[in-house]
Amino acid sequence: QSSASYWLNDANNDSLQRIYGISFPDTKQLKEYKNFLAEAAKRDHRKIGKEQELFFWHDLSPGSTFFLPHGTRIYNKLVELMKAEYHKRGYSEVVSPNMYNSKLWEQSGHWQHYKEDMFVLDVDKEKFALKPMNCPGHCLIFDARDRSYKELPIRMAEFGVIHRNEASGALSGLTRVRRFVQDDTHIFCMPSQIESEMENLFDFLENIYGLFGFTFKLVLSTRPDTFLGDIDTWDQAEKQLSDVLERKYPGKWELNPGDGAFYGPKIDITIRDALNRSHQCATIQLDFQLPERFKLKYRGPEAHDDPEKVTRPVMIHRAILGSLERFIGILTEHTAGKWPFWVSPRQVLVVPVAAPFKDYASEVAQKLQDAGLFVDVDNGENTLPKKIRNGEIAQYNFILVVGEEEMKSQSVNVRNREDVGTKARSEMIKLDEVVTKLSSLNKERRLENKLL
Ligand SMILES: [Zn+2]
Repeated sequence: QSSASYWLNDANNDSLQRIYGISFPDTKQLKEYKNFLAEAAKRDHRKIGKEQELFFWHDLSPGSTFFLPHGTRIYNKLVELMKAEYHKRGYSEVVSPNMYNSKLWEQSGHWQHYKEDMFVLDVDKEKFALKPMNCPGHCLIFDARDRSYKELPIRMAEFGVIHRNEASGALSGLTRVRRFVQDDTHIFCMPSQIESEMENLFDFLENIYGLFGFTFKLVLSTRPDTFLGDIDTWDQAEKQLSDVLERKYPGKWELNPGDGAFYGPKIDITIRDALNRSHQCATIQLDFQLPERFKLKYRGPEAHDDPEKVTRPVMIHRAILGSLERFIGILTEHTAGKWPFWVSPRQVLVVPVAAPFKDYASEVAQKLQDAGLFVDVDNGENTLPKKIRNGEIAQYNFILVVGEEEMKSQSVNVRNREDVGTKARSEMIKLDEVVTKLSSLNKERRLENKLL
């Protein structure tokens, strides 16, 4: 196996070929490893994305994904999931600009430390840049008017489009891209609220990852040797983080001393997929510096006596899915393209056994369509076995077959994707009942492809 990278990670240098070699103490392990590679290749999201017509890339915009209609269904389902949770959990969504004057990036520190990775533009004889993150824009929103401690915490969410100038040789599928969207949120809170906000975030994480069957691991990274801010703030924040970790996950989290960012401690969350591979998606990053740089302030409870007295909020950067693009890539490989019903771009296929039942098949499809499901009907000229086979290959979660008996009794014959290849008999169920059961499977976002 081999892969390409640039010498010293600099795109101006020659491209290097990296050769991997692994040796195994015995043939059993070698065999297991070969199976793993074969399984990973079968699940490659670029391959499945092509087969299922989900997404593609074009040389005319390297590193930017085209989501096709069925890929967009998956994308939207993830966004809808997060929006529903935001609504329940007291988040407010905002929409902020993509392009800012370089003065903003100077203030945030990106111009000094991150300029190489930004797309810079000339606008009105000044330097502008596309945002590589949403945080500075959110600081401007926080600062748009006076804030009181009574408003905190403010949980500001945005599905903002982000651009980062990754070297073209490093771009790969949905994993390394130049243009992406995160389920990004910034929580502005008082230092005393860090612990309860953390608790909320852990609950949020468990909820989301549980829907996909991911398990996860937490690592707390603390103050590095070179840090900004005062040591008391750091100590207090780190204590709150480790307290809440220990309370929620006793003995199940790790400490990575000295590995925090210079502006605050962080918790990295790694998920494990079906092939036992780890992916880092979520991060929870405390930040004492950005509020300082943007001079963010709120009036504290003590301000009754002194209206001039203001305090800086703490900022928590957090994403759960991380980049939606990357998460869809991980999910494609985790599920091997067998999507859980609620996120599936092809939920139901209706197939008539013969021409006289085409109208009934369309009627069934219409009912499911009205219930908000993604349904197709195959009233084409193929034979019945061929239609069913095509439906199986396209990974429809359920195939509903209808004929004389079904039409008379207003029923459908249900074939479950999970039963393919087994001897399990498909069952005849009343149409109304199927609509209700599929709707609840969809709405409850259950992982198991099963009618209850
Ligand atoms: Zn941020």
